[in-house]
Amino acid sequence: MRQIMVAANWKMNGLSADAVHLTRAILDAGLDPTHPEVVIFPPYTLLHVVAQEAKASALRWGGQNLFWEPSGAFTGEISGAMLRDLGCRYVLVGHSERRQIFAESDADVARKLKAAQAAGLIPVVCVGETEQERLAGETEAVLQRQMKHILPYVGTGAPPGLVIAYEPIWAIGTGRTASPEEAQQVHAFLRGLVAGQSEALASRLMILYGGSVKGNNAAALFAQADIDGGLVGGASLQAGEFLQICRAAEANGRGG
Ligand code: PEP
Repeated sequence: MRQIMVAANWKMNGLSADAVHLTRAILDAGLDPTHPEVVIFPPYTLLHVVAQEAKASALRWGGQNLFWEPSGAFTGEISGAMLRDLGCRYVLVGHSERRQIFAESDADVARKLKAAQAAGLIPVVCVGETEQERLAGETEAVLQRQMKHILPYVGTGAPPGLVIAYEPIWAIGTGRTASPEEAQQVHAFLRGLVAGQSEALASRLMILYGGSVKGNNAAALFAQADIDGGLVGGASLQAGEFLQICRAAEANGRGG
């Protein structure tokens, strides 16, 4: 059975005291250490704070981005090895904010996936359509295009290789969530694309949902057959709300 995961994307938010507060709140909640897998993606500047707090626990952490080169004259960039050096297990790749604001292309995403796996990190790679694309009936075509660049890496790297996060852009930070049925339909489509390559890889692949996941909608989303947890932005900055989401995953009964 696939593990269930709840991942916190803090984006560009927080100072040291916030990181200590939020991390301790999760550690002190007494969550089942075997499931869900709880992962924090703090800004780079707070990775060492989270690592210091969480190092003796089951809590995991990761970077929000990386560059594809291992080292060199790339001012302002961070490599996979640097993230590993800070104890990261995961790294976000291709978040829609990176794709839209920083013009990251599908080819860039593929280069980053390769670099992350080469550094021993598990990439959590984000895909998703805009509202315009959804309204034009292009959701599957957009996802298929994005997945074409990701599929070569599903079976590479140390298991689990990578994690997919389906994040419809119209649902990110907007308070509008895909209904559990809408999200399930897309997750099944994504798993089907991987099944075209390998049924075994598809059945093992974790696919998270992201887009205004909150304490009051997490359980219904996680109850769907192909939704293996959530990538949480805004709600991950409020300890109580985030823990409610973790509890919904814990109560889900899968994984462990
Ligand atoms: C995100 O940025 O990955 C995200 C899902 O944000 P939010 O939960 O705020 O919609």
